[in-house]
Amino acid sequence: MSKTVEAPASTPAETHRAALDDRRLTYQRCRSCEQAWLPAREECPKCWSSDWVWEEASGKAEVVSWVVYHTAFDKRFAGHLPYNVAVVQLAEGPRMVTNLIDLSEGEDVIGQAVTLAFEEEFDRPLPRFKLRGP
Ligand SMILES: [Zn+2]
Repeated sequence: MSKTVEAPASTPAETHRAALDDRRLTYQRCRSCEQAWLPAREECPKCWSSDWVWEEASGKAEVVSWVVYHTAFDKRFAGHLPYNVAVVQLAEGPRMVTNLIDLSEGEDVIGQAVTLAFEEEFDRPLPRFKLRGP
């Protein structure tokens, strides 16, 4: 389930970030070919149309891939080691890079169902995902 979200006058990235600040995960859907995507951009990545709308994600997704970092390539993340970076596919289609939260060490999560869970970091809500369970 998704609903159309009205877009204020700004860049797609700014509109996407403003929705995240409001704890809503949005993505774009092309009116010409129905492709849905993230990250936010001016044209459809499939057919290059600029005729698209914002939709709000249900928060349901599946883990496509993930890695665990044991080295902080950015010192702001040093306190988080080890931490994961994952690619999840939203139920509505778009894939996004995120972090998985509340994982047990060594747990294999490829293909598992996850749910959107916002966490505050750097003074802003960030979209992360947690396992939905059986
Ligand atoms: Zn398109």
